[in-house]
Amino acid sequence: MSINVRELVRTPGARLSFRHELDLERLSFPGVLSYSEPPVGEGVIANSADLLTLRGDIRAVMLCECDRCCRRFEKTVDLPLDVRLAAELEDEEDPDYYLLRGDELDIDDLLESSFILGMDTTVLCREDCKGLCPKCGADLNEGDCGCRADPDPRLAVLEQLLDDTDQTN
Ligand SMILES: [Zn+2]
Ligand SMILES: [Zn+2]
Repeated sequence: MSINVRELVRTPGARLSFRHELDLERLSFPGVLSYSEPPVGEGVIANSADLLTLRGDIRAVMLCECDRCCRRFEKTVDLPLDVRLAAELEDEEDPDYYLLRGDELDIDDLLESSFILGMDTTVLCREDCKGLCPKCGADLNEGDCGCRADPDPRLAVLEQLLDDTDQTN
């Protein structure tokens, strides 16, 4: 969907509210199983001080699976939007600006790119999730399983090699 901004550009002080649901088909991320509430972008496009700005946020509730411990949990995201709209740019890669197509603002594309940029690259149930024991599969968030007292023999060899390297340096 696109929004025609011709009148906004021509009218100092003009404001236009928007509310737009994002297309889930293009928003699949590893670790996100489903959306309990699909991402919705909401805000205001305003012409102030000769500048067209779009402010608001994108909210979504997602069912996620932790990258480390595989626990499923619900995550609410609320990404702030603060974008300047421009008809032309000297530097098209300038992250503070979004380029209009003539009088048209491609709101789908703007919201989608903001959402994708704002998503974390790894999905964790909590910042310091300890994950699963690679040996017995126990959830290490719930306590030490005791496996580490018995190191993997391959790791022991590696540690030996590293020790040797340390000594030669
Ligand atoms: Zn976790
Ligand atoms: Zn273990």
